Amino acid sequence: MAAEKLAVTRETFDNVILPVYAPAQFVPVKGKGSRVWDQQGKEYIDFSGGIAVTALGHCHPALVETLKTQGETLWHTSNVFTNEPALRLASKLIAATFAERVFFGNSGAEANEAAFKLARYYACKKHSPFKSKIIAFHNAFHGRTLFTVSVGGQPKYSDGFGPKPADIVHVPFNDLAAVKAVIDDHTCAIVVEPIQGEGGVMPATPEFMQGLRALCDEHNALLVLDEVQSGMGRSGKLFAYEHYGITPDIITTAKALGGGFPVSAMLTTNEIASVMAPGVHGTTYGGNPLACAIAETALDIINTPDVLEGVESRRQQFVAALQALDSKFDLFTDIRGKGLLIGAALKPQHASKARDILHAAAAEGLMILTAGNDVIRFVPSLVIEPTDIEEGMARFAVAIEKVLAA
Ligand SMILES: *Cc1c(COP(=O)(O)O)cnc(C)c1O
Repeated sequence: MAAEKLAVTRETFDNVILPVYAPAQFVPVKGKGSRVWDQQGKEYIDFSGGIAVTALGHCHPALVETLKTQGETLWHTSNVFTNEPALRLASKLIAATFAERVFFGNSGAEANEAAFKLARYYACKKHSPFKSKIIAFHNAFHGRTLFTVSVGGQPKYSDGFGPKPADIVHVPFNDLAAVKAVIDDHTCAIVVEPIQGEGGVMPATPEFMQGLRALCDEHNALLVLDEVQSGMGRSGKLFAYEHYGITPDIITTAKALGGGFPVSAMLTTNEIASVMAPGVHGTTYGGNPLACAIAETALDIINTPDVLEGVESRRQQFVAALQALDSKFDLFTDIRGKGLLIGAALKPQHASKARDILHAAAAEGLMILTAGNDVIRFVPSLVIEPTDIEEGMARFAVAIEKVLAA
């Protein structure tokens, strides 16, 4: 017999969850497409996409179907045994990218941890144990394990946890001269987000990305792209590196990969993968058949001209609505990003209001995000209905009006 369901509310959070989050005052209980309902039955339009995760909206019928079918077939075997969904998903990711080898994890941080360890290991095996320097960027975000948070460029996230992994250098993003000044033959990798997500929705310039590729080639370093947020169609291409005319050595993907089911992947070449051997790295859940079956379905749907081309037209609709708001209220210094990773940077006179706008939007029935202190971020479903964008932006306009009037 099923246990009786305990009654829980937003207040329960304050008593039972480690206080590392400050969630909104409502508790979502149900989602369909780009609409979400809370415990009181209030409806929201979702422009937050679970932080760029639910790329096909909530409870997409094809994902639900796969979840049910695979859920009644095989959930988990560990990596002591391989499984069909993992092998199919890896094959399809390879067919769709530069890559030849895949490692599966369960989160963005794990995929990045694997990438950074691989870059160091490759340099150690192929060149020298002293070739360990990692160059990364201010405001970068790569996850919350101690290694990934140390490669990340926000010390407030890595301070206070004891000694940090050594030999990591941070320089300003989009500043090629700064990279040139610190790169040398002891550098094993440059780690970069093609579009900084958490750091304020900042796209790398083509010159910067191409310059990084050239510098890596010059110094036998690997170019590692963190596409945890920018990948899986978010930018309008399957992976954002395709916009830059470069080939990376390693990419990582997570967030949208499982459309809401936790799964991540690190992709690389045969040459780089060749230094690895059984036992050097691993994880119990990585490549779990349930996760991989769902991700395979998500990839099948996202990696189609229909979905990828639809990203750009939806972006246009967002940008037009934001520009209209801007001409009315003089709000933004910049509307930026690529595809459906959209950042609207608030003018200095409004810079402190990002959190207020987020809460006011929730009150109007709209879920949005911030990125840093002064950027409003929109990362909706890639297949959000144009009518949902229209209605959501109308709610956003009301929220803005209320915040400005307050
Ligand atoms: C979200 C994010 C991560 C971390 O992913 P988790 O699943 O939270 O570990 C890493 N890199 C980027 C660019 C991200 O946006």
